[in-house]
Amino acid sequence: MRAAYRGRFAPTPSGPLHLGSLITALASFLAARHAGGTWLVRIDDIDGPRCRPEHAATILRQLDLHGLHWDESVRYQSQHEDAYQAAFERLREQQLCYRCTCTRARLAELSVAGIDGPVYPGICRDAMHLQMDTAWRLRLPAGRIALDDQIQGRIERDCTSDIGDFVVRRADGRYGYQLASVVDEQQQGITDLVRGADLIGSSLRQKHLMQHFGYAVPRFLHIPVLLDSSGNKLSKQNHAAPISTEHAAQNLIRALNLLGQAPFAADWHGRIDEILARAVRDWNPAQIPRQLNLRA
Ligand SMILES: [Zn+2]
Repeated sequence: MRAAYRGRFAPTPSGPLHLGSLITALASFLAARHAGGTWLVRIDDIDGPRCRPEHAATILRQLDLHGLHWDESVRYQSQHEDAYQAAFERLREQQLCYRCTCTRARLAELSVAGIDGPVYPGICRDAMHLQMDTAWRLRLPAGRIALDDQIQGRIERDCTSDIGDFVVRRADGRYGYQLASVVDEQQQGITDLVRGADLIGSSLRQKHLMQHFGYAVPRFLHIPVLLDSSGNKLSKQNHAAPISTEHAAQNLIRALNLLGQAPFAADWHGRIDEILARAVRDWNPAQIPRQLNLRA
């Protein structure tokens, strides 16, 4: 028997939520509540200077004002480095990781373009670097990794040509996003990952680590990435506008319509709790379009 549903939203606090990240937060909230499950919020704040406490506070306030109330206390990755270190030491003892001295410039030059982003071609795999303060990469076995997505079906990649050895500990001593997330999902008992399709490459890497550690692998639901009117991904990097908390009801309706859920008229005036109650009741991932586009 499956454990009771536990989902989470795990933003990086590098800026306030924009419509794209609200859609992901809302989808994971609705999926959890529709299943009568638990919904958690985690702040993925180990990615150095991009992460700022004031952004985390803003995100939590934005979620709250949109009625997306979470269960249990918020988990901050920056407070769990011991757990990530223990996982890293395990990999190291098993001789599954190696030091990588490649600079950003060298990586930019030598990485191969893969389906989900740049692929490290294994330059330092057998170099046996002895320097201190280097990054550490996980040695991936040859073969394929696959996962079954609830809306996208089976997703399969080749470890060598599509994924590549990835960083589990960075040169600055911080732990890699993939390793930290896997430890968090395990410690928080997450059964379902609802996240943006831009993280499919991460999901595959994380699934590999989860299986390696003998952790339960969650179900996956990847929400198509929201594209702006010129077809580019809406993101903090391209300065997507933060959502305005003064228009929370309209923001929710807009996000629900983009997700293909229980269409509300754009000028529907209701309270946030009414909108969310109806959206939770009617949540149906099969209605999510294959592409989310903002109208021009
Ligand atoms: Zn290297």
